[in-house]
Amino acid sequence: MPTPPTYTDVQAAAERIRGHANRTPVLTSRRVNSELAASVFFKCENFQRMGAFKFRGAFNALSRFDEEQRRNGVITYSSGNHAQAIALSARILGVPATIVMPHDAPASKVAATRGYGATIVVYDRYTENREEIGQTLAAEHGMTLVPPYDHADVIAGQGTATKELFEEVGELDALYVCLGGGGLLSGAALAARALSPSCRIYGVEPKAGDDGLQSLRTGSIVHIDTPATIADGAQTQHLGTLTFEIIRREVDDIHTATDEELVEAMRVFAATLKIVVEPTGCLAFAAVRRLAAELSGQRVGVIVSGGNVDLARYASLLA
Ligand SMILES: *Cc1c(COP(=O)(O)O)cnc(C)c1O
Repeated sequence: MPTPPTYTDVQAAAERIRGHANRTPVLTSRRVNSELAASVFFKCENFQRMGAFKFRGAFNALSRFDEEQRRNGVITYSSGNHAQAIALSARILGVPATIVMPHDAPASKVAATRGYGATIVVYDRYTENREEIGQTLAAEHGMTLVPPYDHADVIAGQGTATKELFEEVGELDALYVCLGGGGLLSGAALAARALSPSCRIYGVEPKAGDDGLQSLRTGSIVHIDTPATIADGAQTQHLGTLTFEIIRREVDDIHTATDEELVEAMRVFAATLKIVVEPTGCLAFAAVRRLAAELSGQRVGVIVSGGNVDLARYASLLA
């Protein structure tokens, strides 16, 4: 098994992405602070390139390719933000990219990915296995597979968002991070432990898919069926080997949020902070709103993970 990354890898990733990734803003709101009786700092990755933090991990992973890997190209499987992140990073670095996507992926996501110049390979979600297709194509064409979360360079890249947050606001009492497969949370944990050692670190996943919480409780990776939730970026079925190892070591606990709580958080983001956040990006703030009583008087970090949501869907969720 590959060894998990450390904070040194996060620092190296920060150097690699410098000048390519956006240093996203940290927003605060007097209104939110007075409603929650806490000081909340929002690290806004909805303002990242391609609209989510995933650009950081993808760009970091691709910038480490050697000559031969660059020539043969990158492959990944994803219908969401990781696909766009790989496609955009590959275009910037001049690497051919192949993305394996389900036949019923949203047209807007397919179009965005193709727009970055990637080759799309379509598969049937119900009868075919995307990981097998990815591995077969990778082996046949010598392409390098970069998975969405269980990869040391991806984790280190995602950690740079939290590194920037602490550099900007100083130490915090607690940090809340959206959780799917755990790339963002494990990278955040590496940065938080190094830059704010006493900060409590929490993951927040959809209530309908609480495999991360179950895994933390049982001490081994729990697999679940694809959960039904509006948080489409966190419909993962299990944590990764590397992400779980870091999460069980560094993360204090995992919370969950219901779809209704996500919509309420999305509404506050729009009405109060004036930002468009996708349902998955609302997970961390939804938990903070529910836990306000215990966070009173504290300095709290919230990672807002992305803002890619079809506007018609956004409007109907808020209606
Ligand atoms: C991928 C994604 C997540 C979950 O990240 P993991 O690294 O899989 O835990 C959260 N929010 C958004 C917007 C995402 O795209």
